[in-house]
Amino acid sequence: MPKNIALYIHVPYCLEKCPYCDFHSVATSGAPIPEIDYADVLIRQLKWEVERLEIKGSALASVFFGGGTPSLMKPEFFGKVLSAVSEQFDFDSSIEITVETNPASALLKNFQAWRAFGINRISFGVQSFQEHLLKKLGRRHTPQEAREAIQSAREAGFDNISCDFIFGIEEETLEDLEKDLKEALSFDLPHISAYQLTVESGTPLAVWVKEGTFHLPDEDHLVMMHKKTVELLENGGLKRYEISNYSKIGLESRHNLQYWRYGDCLGIGSGAVSCVNGKRWRTTRKLKNYLSGNWDYEDEETISDKTALKEKWMMGLRLAEGVELDPVLHQKWGSTLSKWEKDGLLQLKEGRVVLTEEGFLMSNWVTQNIFEMIEKVC
Ligand code: SF4
Repeated sequence: MPKNIALYIHVPYCLEKCPYCDFHSVATSGAPIPEIDYADVLIRQLKWEVERLEIKGSALASVFFGGGTPSLMKPEFFGKVLSAVSEQFDFDSSIEITVETNPASALLKNFQAWRAFGINRISFGVQSFQEHLLKKLGRRHTPQEAREAIQSAREAGFDNISCDFIFGIEEETLEDLEKDLKEALSFDLPHISAYQLTVESGTPLAVWVKEGTFHLPDEDHLVMMHKKTVELLENGGLKRYEISNYSKIGLESRHNLQYWRYGDCLGIGSGAVSCVNGKRWRTTRKLKNYLSGNWDYEDEETISDKTALKEKWMMGLRLAEGVELDPVLHQKWGSTLSKWEKDGLLQLKEGRVVLTEEGFLMSNWVTQNIFEMIEKVC
């Protein structure tokens, strides 16, 4: 039985699809969402999974409503689902319960209702405070809606607020990035995520990039953006605890830390991924099937020791705390790691491997080399 589990609840509905996004969601275009049916199936799946995995009464580290756009759902949806969660797991009011929220569907009265259900963290998809960058990203909300959303969350009593930003957008200058992050810091947010725009295959953005109608910044510009982000956010009082995540001390995302530390995460809802007891699976993305009560799995796998070791390193190297180096690997990899340490890519600290700022910039290269080293030892 896992001692500690994180619960992820996927809500696969968005008003419209953003052109860069490959998360599992359908565009409602304003049509009503079958909220009651979806909540009913979620609850049935939750009970079924808990029984199957024999985890009833386990300690719950966090609950995360992600999507999609969970904030499209009415407050009763969260009340109903969280009440079912409380019947299955052991947790108290100190648990972290997050709702991903789109500024376009942020309502003060909803935020007030959420608090009554124990929701205590909001993660806003702000992406930028500038109209021209939001347009490039194909986002539907305005900068003003994002500002008002943060203020409404505060008014409703939320202290633990995170905002996501995207950089590396076509024509985005260093000044644009600075403007965005300085405005974010002016809200005294306890948590900010800053992700480089990535081109996911199968998205309209991938087509535009291929056709040459959307231009990505060059490598040098991106490196400057990464450095500027670290400098501004750390000077602004936040600590980088993960390659793209910054927080005040003690307000790191507990849910994401559980994931990056390779802890057990149970995902429910159409398209949700679970990783529990050395197994991984994804609940069907066929929403019609899911709504009819069929939560078949896609891609079910038993994680081999080799894959687990690779994933543990891949995710752990993203963290400022790094990865624990066991004595056997230390013996085998010692000389290579010492060389990388001399090259300024990492530090060996108290039995852990921790990437430096330079190492974070080259994390793909480091990870690839670690994978090759794992292949030789497993
Ligand atoms: S709102 Fe979020 S989940 Fe929905 S399409 Fe846009 S980026 Fe993807």
